[in-house]
Amino acid sequence: MSSGSIRRREFIKGAMLTGAGLQLAEAGAQGQPASSPPSGPMLTPPPDQKIPRRKLGKTGVDTPILIMGCCQTLDAAYDKRLHRAYAIGVDHLDTAQMYAEGQSHKTLAPFIKQVGDRKKLFIGSKVFQKGEEGTPEAFKTNIDLCLKDLETDYMDAFYMHIVQHPRLLDPEFVKMGEELKKAGKIRFFGFSCHHGDSIPTLMNKAAAVGGFDVIMFRYSFRECGDLELNKAIDACHKAGIGLIAIKTLASVPDDQEQVKQFQSKNFTLIQAKLKAVWADERIAGIASQMGNVQHVMENAAAAISPTQLSMEEFMQLHRFAGQSAHQHCKGCSGVCESCVEGPLRIADTLRYLMYAECYEQRDMARALYAELSEEERRFDLADLSAAQNACPQGIDIAARLAHAHSILSA
Ligand code: SF4
Repeated sequence: MSSGSIRRREFIKGAMLTGAGLQLAEAGAQGQPASSPPSGPMLTPPPDQKIPRRKLGKTGVDTPILIMGCCQTLDAAYDKRLHRAYAIGVDHLDTAQMYAEGQSHKTLAPFIKQVGDRKKLFIGSKVFQKGEEGTPEAFKTNIDLCLKDLETDYMDAFYMHIVQHPRLLDPEFVKMGEELKKAGKIRFFGFSCHHGDSIPTLMNKAAAVGGFDVIMFRYSFRECGDLELNKAIDACHKAGIGLIAIKTLASVPDDQEQVKQFQSKNFTLIQAKLKAVWADERIAGIASQMGNVQHVMENAAAAISPTQLSMEEFMQLHRFAGQSAHQHCKGCSGVCESCVEGPLRIADTLRYLMYAECYEQRDMARALYAELSEEERRFDLADLSAAQNACPQGIDIAARLAHAHSILSA
């Protein structure tokens, strides 16, 4: 048995024993007395209860464990998802300059005004620079643009977005974060990393060099037993870095099949995936993209529920992770792309396909795919057999890339 699977068993056992540390009173389904046992998954949170909060590392901030991901297109006039979430305690918003085809900040600004007191919100945003090309100057210029679009004069957390290269954690970038804090433009500095196999390396470096207050990183039921990632989480947690999980649903195209198979009297599959991450008390919160009010309620009900996942529910997630691994690209581009001739962008293309298939973001996926050069997406002429053999997930790369091309170039 591998150390990874032993670790997964230990994690599950630990999660079962320690729980998520939520100290709320037992509550029933909406409209029922708190003492009534739920008869099925709660899809709405109990009235008058707010999302639990946890410490965001050493920042001194308590964040709701459910954070509003703002990747989706927002309604600039009145976004009912944002308002419903805010009413139950989701006062931490996560956005990025590139979200909603670059419109996220502008469409979020009216909500900030509607809340009426900037200090009541914690706003984090992210700026993307290509790994080999990012400079502190470019990041700083983008911050000013972000603040202008958000119509605010400071950001609570600023993240370098989709960091894949440790170079972006070098002293010049740490210094940039310190300068931005001194200038009053940001309160906390960090980075996001959710693609590729460098996440543990990046997190370990951040913990070692200091200067990073917050990290957003890919963490789902699929990674709960990953030994290297667990060590990196430990290092960051001990260094006082606030950890926010993203990509927690780790969706695949046949998720609907898994939804039908998932057996639980307490949780839907989505709720169970969130609970699996919240069971790790090193995680301050989950940034979740909630496409409609129903999703907000479903996520919130899980956040508020004091019931923990059972061993059986954990094992179902573990089984789903194995069954769907061949559909889940981990983004370890160095593995497959080093097996092919030329600059083919296999991992990015599969990520764009995921945006289209699993996150209903076909327009953004098409726009990103269109940015690739002809050489980077000339998959039909390439021999992909070696890449396919090397893929640790066993993905049928040729078939998936052909599918991606048909969807994203249409
Ligand atoms: S296709 Fe396989 S090897 Fe390539 S990035 Fe995805 S998971 Fe890694």
